[in-house]
Amino acid sequence: MPSSKDRSPFVNAETKSQSLASQRQYQTDAGITELLLGEQLSEVIPGYRSRISQLEMALDIELALKTRSHLIVESGAGSGKTLAYLLPVLMTGGRTLIATSTHTLQQQVQDIAVSLGKIVGHRSVVVIKGRRNYVCPRRLLNPEVAAEVSEKTMLRLQQLQAWWPRSETGDLTEFMDIDVDDDLQEIVTCPAESCAGSSCPMIDLCPLDRIRRRVHDAEIVIGNHHLLAGMLRSDPLDVLSGFDHIVVDEAHRLPDVIARCETISLSSDQLRYLIAAVVREAGRSEVDSSRLLDAAASLEYVVVATADDSSSPVLQRLAERLQRLEACVSEAAQQSFKFRNLLQRIGLLRVTLGRLLADVDTGSTHQDESRRTGFHILGLHEPVSRSIQRMVIGSEATWVFTSATLAVNGTCHQFQEATGMQDVRATLFPSEYDYPNQASLWIPDISQPSESAHIPELVRAVLPLLGTAPTLMLFCSKKAMDEAAALLAGFDGLLVQGRMSRQGLVEAFSAMEKPVLLATQSFREGIELAGDRLRLLVVDKLPFPNIGDIDVQIRMTAVTLSSRDSFRDYILPEAVIALRQSFGRLIRREHQRGLFVLGDPRIRTHDYGAQFLHSLPSMPVLTSDDEAMTYFQDIVNEPASA
Ligand code: SF4
Repeated sequence: MPSSKDRSPFVNAETKSQSLASQRQYQTDAGITELLLGEQLSEVIPGYRSRISQLEMALDIELALKTRSHLIVESGAGSGKTLAYLLPVLMTGGRTLIATSTHTLQQQVQDIAVSLGKIVGHRSVVVIKGRRNYVCPRRLLNPEVAAEVSEKTMLRLQQLQAWWPRSETGDLTEFMDIDVDDDLQEIVTCPAESCAGSSCPMIDLCPLDRIRRRVHDAEIVIGNHHLLAGMLRSDPLDVLSGFDHIVVDEAHRLPDVIARCETISLSSDQLRYLIAAVVREAGRSEVDSSRLLDAAASLEYVVVATADDSSSPVLQRLAERLQRLEACVSEAAQQSFKFRNLLQRIGLLRVTLGRLLADVDTGSTHQDESRRTGFHILGLHEPVSRSIQRMVIGSEATWVFTSATLAVNGTCHQFQEATGMQDVRATLFPSEYDYPNQASLWIPDISQPSESAHIPELVRAVLPLLGTAPTLMLFCSKKAMDEAAALLAGFDGLLVQGRMSRQGLVEAFSAMEKPVLLATQSFREGIELAGDRLRLLVVDKLPFPNIGDIDVQIRMTAVTLSSRDSFRDYILPEAVIALRQSFGRLIRREHQRGLFVLGDPRIRTHDYGAQFLHSLPSMPVLTSDDEAMTYFQDIVNEPASA
């Protein structure tokens, strides 16, 4: 076997055929087959039962890991994907990083890995989150930091100071809801750019350093996609190297996460806050403030000018003024901690501005036009596919990308293009569900989504079905959801996203007999609605990304700049995957049946409609309202199967 240094990161035609030849050899290796077809796993995995597609997927991944060939694998719904990749990972050996999409999934993967360890042999498993989840003691215990916070934050800061010595992990999520306590999180965590790493005087107390050491010793590390994106930057704590295998679970999300992490942005607000902080500090401190105030005023002058003109010469002028301010703050920083912090902020802004300046002439930057005042410039430095290629090549590991929704029109070409993995073998495993007998599609004859009558007509079409069985209605916008909620006001069993917490909605849905839950597309994944109870799924329209969204515009530009078509190669495949995910909410068990209502006639009338229809599982398409009513009556009378 070649060393990891000299092998190609991609499978070429020759190694592909070698892989197929050696596949026969591995199929005689009975380890995984015996386990997945035998009884033993049910002792450690509650409810385990063997599934052919799971076995085939596990063998394919084992083959990829043993032959050190990257693999893209779509696992059919209900085939037990996590077990299908964990088993070969544990049995093949080698250090493995598993990156999934949420903290909840990280925990689930860890639980299954530990359970499997009881059968295949114990492996050290560590869960690691992004650095903004861990307390930085250098910041937490710095009295100068405490001097800057509000009274309310001060109280939380003191509670945190008392809590963290007792914490084994220093993981902030054990102390607070980090989505809620943003200010505190900002103060007590440390971005990579500011981390002193091994030269930090607090390194012995540092939770991040502790987790770094545990990660270095661990055989299986469970992280998430955002953490993976850290491979594209320098990491002073160095936790993302030295893996033999990297498994990306929920891989359909990876290009989007990488795009968001790699998008750089600069706004007039950031610069104004900086200028205000410099002026405030100049007034308070003992430093000679005249040059500082002068530099701040001249920067502000250009910030105002940039609102109308973000061309290269104006940005250049902005960079010069920022540099002048940096020089003045640098002198003051020798006398004051606060100026040292400001200097750090200026340094980061200057680097960002430099990168935007490099991109502005290539046309890859965007002005956020939705702002009423000031400017917000964003740019994606390189196509996402190139960033992912850099990660893959730099890691020297074997990569497995897996998800239940990677294919568009029956192939993974779009995912391969989006990730730069065109030469990597892709395999699709069928679902365990019998969709032709478990689901039907109904496209009611209503107005186009662009017409004002669309939502009222959709609600009128499905009204006879509502209240007879658990129902989920997914909308592409909050506006459409609110419109439907207003039309259904007072309906018995109505639940609406935003009127209670996500968890509260899930619990209420489980507790009610015939709930009707209205939600936006954010509910299309990562949520389990009471097992097999759902009978009716309504999607208001084809879920195209919103091209008014600045993030979408940036992705479109990046696709266009790499000589591809932004609609065909980005917008359309994204919408197809989103529709597949939405449909995935409906059938969650083998014997469950359900009706899928799509309120968008474009799937029939537009050329691209065929791509959606061919990408959905094969199922009968009901042709009239009567047929839909009869089908639905039939399934609501069936008892739940689990
Ligand atoms: S090593 Fe970095 S994260 Fe840890 S205490 Fe020091 S500065 Fe903070």
